[in-house]
Amino acid sequence: MPELDARGVSVRFGETVALQDLDVRVDSGRILALVGPSGSGKSTFLRAVAGFERPSAGTIRVGDRTLVGDGIHLPPEERGLGMVFQHHAVWPHLSVADNVAYPLRRAKVPTARRRALVAEALETVELGEFARRRPDTLSGGQRQRVSLARAIVARPGVLLLDEALSALDEPLRASLRLVLRRLAAEHDLTMIHVTHDRGEALALGDEVAVLHGGRLVQCDVPDRLDAAPNSAFVAGFLHDAT
Ligand code: ADP
Ligand code: MG
Repeated sequence: MPELDARGVSVRFGETVALQDLDVRVDSGRILALVGPSGSGKSTFLRAVAGFERPSAGTIRVGDRTLVGDGIHLPPEERGLGMVFQHHAVWPHLSVADNVAYPLRRAKVPTARRRALVAEALETVELGEFARRRPDTLSGGQRQRVSLARAIVARPGVLLLDEALSALDEPLRASLRLVLRRLAAEHDLTMIHVTHDRGEALALGDEVAVLHGGRLVQCDVPDRLDAAPNSAFVAGFLHDAT
């Protein structure tokens, strides 16, 4: 059974069909790279999983929990997912540790437990020695690590990343890709990583799903996608990456 299972998901904005009948499955501890041109529906899908858009049809399940479907539409805060976006929204007036602790404070996690979870999350993203620093004394890559630590501190089973590395230069992206791979392998964290960058999708995804015009056109392991694209669109899209 997949950890994340989305079936038949459609999202409309008035006349615009942003997503049509999308099936997406990701197994536990695996990374799905969701790739496609601008406007293909990548963010809309993540927002539907996160609970910020309401699908007109379809079901979304994580483990044995139904997030969407069967008359259920859980609010975002009850979905227990982690999220990281392109522009790290860290609080400038809080230390690194307090930024990471923020979701735990809101959830009223007791102090001792909170400290332990924050220390562990900072270690995971290799920011242990930066706990007392202010975000404005960090590099862009380090700030994105703070966002990542905050997204995983409550130990979600699923992490959603929307162009989370896109604002960074390639060396930083490469080092964060390693962090994400380790999180998947060691913490059994299941991820959907949205990117418009085909090279990054092929480098990071255990599987790569290609979206075009709100439809899923192909989903496969990178090698097979590369060797046997199922359409001129996929072939062209992947070819342009190199
Ligand atoms: P991507 O992330 O792949 O660039 P999006 O999911 O942002 O694509 O957008 C998919 C389609 O849905 C686009 O046509 C976009 O204009 C439309 N769309 C997205 N969000 C909204 C919204 N809030 N209102 C109206 N149309 C939207
Ligand atoms: Mg987007």
